[in-house]
Amino acid sequence: METELGDEVVVVGGGVIGLTTAVVLAERGRRVRVWTREPVERTTSAVAGALWWPYRIEPVALAREWALRSLDVYEELAARPEGTGVRVVEGVLGETGLDEVDGWATARLPGLRAARAGEYGGSGLWARLPLIDMSTHLPWLRERLTAAGGVVETRAVADLAEAGAPVVVNCTGLGARELVPDASVRPVRGQLVVVENPGIDTWLVSTDPASGEMAYFFPHPGRLVLGGTAEEDAWSAEPDPAVAEAIVRRCAALRPEIAGARVLEHRVGLRPARDAVRLERERLPDGRLLVHNYGHGGAGVTVAWGCAREAARLATG
Ligand SMILES: Cc1cc2nc3c(=O)[nH]c(=O)nc-3n(C[C@H](O)[C@H](O)[C@H](O)COP(=O)(O)OP(=O)(O)OC[C@H]3O[C@@H](n4cnc5c(N)ncnc54)[C@H](O)[C@@H]3O)c2cc1C
Repeated sequence: METELGDEVVVVGGGVIGLTTAVVLAERGRRVRVWTREPVERTTSAVAGALWWPYRIEPVALAREWALRSLDVYEELAARPEGTGVRVVEGVLGETGLDEVDGWATARLPGLRAARAGEYGGSGLWARLPLIDMSTHLPWLRERLTAAGGVVETRAVADLAEAGAPVVVNCTGLGARELVPDASVRPVRGQLVVVENPGIDTWLVSTDPASGEMAYFFPHPGRLVLGGTAEEDAWSAEPDPAVAEAIVRRCAALRPEIAGARVLEHRVGLRPARDAVRLERERLPDGRLLVHNYGHGGAGVTVAWGCAREAARLATG
């Protein structure tokens, strides 16, 4: 059915949400054009660590469903990590009990077990989860889109109606705040430090119960991504040296070898947070279809494929 609907779709936004949505649409036979203000390397998506886990995203129940659908895809992609940037890696979700994954993820995540004393200071859960190297994954998505006949154009959009296509999909993340406009999309600033990997091959996410501060490290080929922060309504894209120092200090408290690791890069990204992901469609005054897919907060990578399939369904008919 869908291949008969070969009409054009313009996807506005070329981060992980826009590109994944464009891939799904193009592989269903649509003629897809992605319009992106920034090149893919300069999007928020390029900043992410990126661990598969539904963190800071609402509504929780739907996010879990989208996450599980995406998990199926990431597990397949992990068979070719060099090409896709996706690997399944073991690590510890700190301050997490088995009860927190019960009922939604236990059956899908084999090898879940509580961390023993000596393995992790607090209560933690070992899990094998997709870890996505976005510097490989985003270009891979773009190439997969091109292979399916889609095109990516660098172009800023001032009005969603300016795309002449019968279907327009809005995947502009924080950009939706001005473009829609939708003042309920707000930034949650995250800062990271990328260091040379001192030989760590498992990941860890930990929250200090006293301060609520988060520390995490994600091993990627040749480097270790250290995090992190989550500052609501903070707009600065500049790395703060004091924050970077605190991130390294918190991570080194968990793994002392991190203290001497050479710093390769500082990164800042603004998570596009919203009370609920906006994944719905509306009719433009001229009858064309506008599908929204934005506001994925701290888990856009985690839910990308589940949301992309739903957006593609909404874009059809
Ligand atoms: C520090 C940090 C760590 C993170 N870690 C994780 C993690 O471990 N796991 C995880 O799942 N998620 C993580 N995230 C969250 C994740 O990065 C986001 O949820 C995700 O990148 C959102 O993707 P997006 O495509 O909606 O937005 P973006 O990547 O911001 O893309 C938006 C796109 O829209 C375009 N655009 C905007 N306005 C316009 C316009 N007017 N005209 C044309 N184009 C426009 C932009 O140019 C861009 O191409 C993290 C985020 C940060 C900041």
